[in-house]
Amino acid sequence: MTRKIIVVGGGIAGLTAAYTLQKDGFDVEVLERNDEPGGRMRSERHGDFVVDRGAQFIASSYRNMRALVDELGLKAQVRRLKTGRGATLRNGRFVRSNYAGLKAILRARDLSWGSRVRLPGILFELRRNKRLLDFYAIEKAAPLDDATAHDWALRRYGREVLNYIIEPPFASTFTVLPENLSRAFVLATIDYMFGGFRLSAFQGGNGLLTRTLASKLRVRTSVEASGITHTADDVSVRLGTGETLTADAVVVATPGNHVARLCETLTAEERRFFDSVRYASSIICFVMTSDTEADPGIYGLGIGRTEGVRLYGMAMENPKEGAVPAGKTMFNCALSEAYAAELMHKSDDEVAAATLEELSKLPLRGLDKTERVVVHRWPELVPQFYHGYIRSLAAFKDRRERSDRIFFAGDYLVGPYTEAAVTSGLRAAGDVCGRFGTQPVTIADE
Ligand SMILES: Cc1cc2nc3c(=O)[nH]c(=O)nc-3n(C[C@H](O)[C@H](O)[C@H](O)COP(=O)(O)OP(=O)(O)OC[C@H]3O[C@@H](n4cnc5c(N)ncnc54)[C@H](O)[C@@H]3O)c2cc1C
Repeated sequence: MTRKIIVVGGGIAGLTAAYTLQKDGFDVEVLERNDEPGGRMRSERHGDFVVDRGAQFIASSYRNMRALVDELGLKAQVRRLKTGRGATLRNGRFVRSNYAGLKAILRARDLSWGSRVRLPGILFELRRNKRLLDFYAIEKAAPLDDATAHDWALRRYGREVLNYIIEPPFASTFTVLPENLSRAFVLATIDYMFGGFRLSAFQGGNGLLTRTLASKLRVRTSVEASGITHTADDVSVRLGTGETLTADAVVVATPGNHVARLCETLTAEERRFFDSVRYASSIICFVMTSDTEADPGIYGLGIGRTEGVRLYGMAMENPKEGAVPAGKTMFNCALSEAYAAELMHKSDDEVAAATLEELSKLPLRGLDKTERVVVHRWPELVPQFYHGYIRSLAAFKDRRERSDRIFFAGDYLVGPYTEAAVTSGLRAAGDVCGRFGTQPVTIADE
């Protein structure tokens, strides 16, 4: 008998789960509320520019995504960024630094002696906690989820390290301040980064991956699930249209903070966890200029609050093959959460003008040649791995009572990035296979 599985949410997590289950012989249907699948991994064209809506880059260390890409025949479309160099804004200037390893820290001229003496302590913390630091199983770090990254960095390493080494890269990459991050997440991330990786992107936009997956699946778009209930025999999914669908199981692959509202029959432990899921929210603006004068020759720039710029950072799109037409420049700017909250309901023109004003505080030339600004509002940008969340996630993973026939996928279960979403999709598919006694799913990292 072919089992029917409904996947609610057509982002990379839901599409990965659906594709894997379909390969395993299940009859799968994906429901997506937007008019196209992809969620936070889509691409769109604006004239000759290709804008990634959501995920900007992928990393060579994303091993589950790499296996999926190989299987889909997309390997040739994954292109290394022409430069992955990063910088931090310090006293209004771009500073390129390397703090990877003891020697690099001791030689870092941009740091005071006090910071250079204290900072190697992080290397000892990483070594001491090695067995707890697993980017693919962040819940193992629950014993280290005992402080915010802000309090931990300030207490152990001092204000300079907090302001210039911890805050800029984390705020610009995960759109979150150290107050809203667990020290456990920061340690696991630094440990993962020390493993080394190269930044890449799909030629023609990162949406290629979600588009390719969706083309192999039955996906219904513009359909919003409004309620999910299960009995001992099946699961019902109520749609916004009033229609009800039934299936043997459902994979809920929406952002985690929607789940408690959507799933009416969760266990108490599950409800407690889903109530604890939070997302960072911001606005991302793509600024396109009509010459290359504005290209500072770096990929990413992190900006700490002390610099007085209401941006967490920006990234150049020029290093991505095929994203920017010759002779032009595009960079994307992440507004600080506080400034984004002020501007969230303003018009695109007002947001664009506000962003350009913040950019004018940076040592960038050529902004007078801006030809277009594209504004993306993200009420749910990425999940926040805040102090307390990793313990909550560990308890959820160990829960005794599980909703039978309802499975979960999404980045919030592993980490705030696409590889985590892919991994969660593979794991959800594995759980469905386990439930119905079919072949186990192979996951590259397990
Ligand atoms: C601006 C930005 C930049 C990022 N940069 C990077 C990066 O450079 N590298 C990286 O690896 N990651 C990056 N990320 C993170 C990455 O994009 C996400 O972690 C990943 O795409 C999340 O996938 P997901 O499937 O878990 O969730 P989503 O993509 O959010 O998918 C959930 C889907 O569920 C749908 N949905 C919700 N409710 C319902 C409902 N009731 N019925 C039907 N459908 C529903 C939504 O429309 C959505 O399509 C970035 C994210 C953003 C927003």
